[in-house]
Amino acid sequence: MTQASVLVPMQGCKACERLWHTPLPSCPFCASTDCKPVEVGGRGRVYAWTTVARSLESPPRPTPYTIVTVDLEAGGRVFGRYEGTAEPQPDEPVVCTRVDRDAQGALSFSPAR
Ligand SMILES: [Zn+2]
Repeated sequence: MTQASVLVPMQGCKACERLWHTPLPSCPFCASTDCKPVEVGGRGRVYAWTTVARSLESPPRPTPYTIVTVDLEAGGRVFGRYEGTAEPQPDEPVVCTRVDRDAQGALSFSPAR
């Protein structure tokens, strides 16, 4: 069974056609201001990760938690919370399972099954 993924809200550049998350006033790659919102599929692969042992947020978030950097199949490199139970692996297939629109579009990823 394939795990369902949610769409990831990205911003796209009409000049260089690259994608990024979260919205910026101009393209971080070519500085064009001709940008548009785009939603893409949430499937991707783990590029890197880090486990946070001490929260610097206020109020503090329960620790430890793991943040992954994910290369989306649709293009673009994003980061989000890792919801797997084991340590992520390099190139591990993951799916975006949540977009927290109250937290500036924070993403959550789970291992793809
Ligand atoms: Zn651009």
